[in-house]
Amino acid sequence: MDTIILGAGLAGLSLAYFLNRKTVVLEKEVVPGGLCRSFALNDIVYDIGPHALFSKNSSILSTIIQLTPTNRLRRSNKVYYKNRFVKYPFENDLYALDPPEREYCLKEFLVNPYENYPANTMLQFFLKTFGEGITKIYLQPYNEKIWKFDPAFMDTQMVERIPKPPKEDVIKSAQGIPTEGYLHQLYFYYPQQGGIQQLIHALIERTQDKTEIITSVGIEQIFFEQGTWCVTTKQGVFRAATLINCMPLHELLKCLEVPEDVRRAAAALRYNSIHIVALQCLRDNIGENFAVYVPDTKAIFHRISKVDFLGKYYCRVPEGSTVLAEITYRPNSYLADVSPEEIVCTVIRDFDRIGLIKENDIVTTDIRSFHYAYVIYDLAHRENTDKVLQYLSDLGIICCGRFAEFEYLNMDAVFEHSLRLAAVLNGTSHD
Ligand SMILES: Cc1cc2nc3c(=O)[nH]c(=O)nc-3n(C[C@H](O)[C@H](O)[C@H](O)COP(=O)(O)OP(=O)(O)OC[C@H]3O[C@@H](n4cnc5c(N)ncnc54)[C@H](O)[C@@H]3O)c2cc1C
Repeated sequence: MDTIILGAGLAGLSLAYFLNRKTVVLEKEVVPGGLCRSFALNDIVYDIGPHALFSKNSSILSTIIQLTPTNRLRRSNKVYYKNRFVKYPFENDLYALDPPEREYCLKEFLVNPYENYPANTMLQFFLKTFGEGITKIYLQPYNEKIWKFDPAFMDTQMVERIPKPPKEDVIKSAQGIPTEGYLHQLYFYYPQQGGIQQLIHALIERTQDKTEIITSVGIEQIFFEQGTWCVTTKQGVFRAATLINCMPLHELLKCLEVPEDVRRAAAALRYNSIHIVALQCLRDNIGENFAVYVPDTKAIFHRISKVDFLGKYYCRVPEGSTVLAEITYRPNSYLADVSPEEIVCTVIRDFDRIGLIKENDIVTTDIRSFHYAYVIYDLAHRENTDKVLQYLSDLGIICCGRFAEFEYLNMDAVFEHSLRLAAVLNGTSHD
């Protein structure tokens, strides 16, 4: 083989697709796809949190959606605040709030004492960009829930691209005049059938003549010998001139001899794990909405979503719906020790308590947990990530993918990175 790719998630498989050479992709799990795998509950397919395809880069988006038949859907996302739905993004629907809270959000946005300070943390960025009202009511509690990390200790890399909403839009929103924000996400695409894993199937099908994917393979050691990368596994030794890492950095470093300072930097890279609870119910009060963000600290989940929204093949027949609840947790934190059974019971209780699904209406549940879900941009993220990646790059190991680069990359960004890397390796890059 010319090239070994470690990890058959979207990054590894899209890279194999774009490369014009023979590759072997080594994957630990039985099924390739990583975070883009899908699962079924009574024949209804769901993802690891619904994976919507959208992008600011129209050329990448069309490259992705030509791989598999998709539905084009208009976003219908809400924030569930005090037992009512506020349209997402929150600042575009202040009218849905009670008058005192509406005024609080609007006034603090228009006359914002934090406006002219530099923002060095995520929390400072929220206060500076949205004002105290929107920050305290929605952004701060929601972000604390999803990250399980205080936004005062996170940097601004994730949020600095969020544009400040135009004043006129926020004023209109408080008056009840509809406006839309985050327009590049207003429409999204989703595979017509089979969940997001269809994308993975499509990539595998289109690369089979030049790519060998080996699953259930445990990588033991990686070393460089006589101009060749050697990857030892229980299934034998793989050798190639080029080695590309698309699996999490933490996993890669387990297989390499690295200096202590690099190991320490890698150990300090923080991330979240996630539980996905799928439940099927006879009826719900979520309406025609897709994703619902839940800042309420009394509910264990930060986001719920209705799978039925994604098209006719995702709907239960003759009645009922399938709903996902997402619960993040930091490995080794108190929540990591709570058993899956207890998580499911809490989810059911919280749905009932906040009035979205009655406990008696729930028919079936399922829970799946995934170790690497979200990169946490803590204040040392940039320094530690750069240190590890620089060391690997000096060794000659190229990294591509969400946990391989240790960045918050969505599917479009993963495609973009693998396309760019493939162009360099194929010798067709103009950069
Ligand atoms: C809850 C959630 C919701 C999301 N929603 C969206 C969305 O709506 N839209 C969007 O665009 N993106 C979304 N994403 C992001 C999307 O899932 C990622 O961008 C993408 O799947 C990352 O692909 P990857 O190949 O880089 O990483 P991964 O999918 O993590 O792949 C890494 C691969 O490496 C393998 N591996 C790990 N250890 C080893 C080992 N020791 N040996 C061999 N292989 C190993 C893993 O099994 C896996 O297959 C979401 C992510 C999450 C967590």
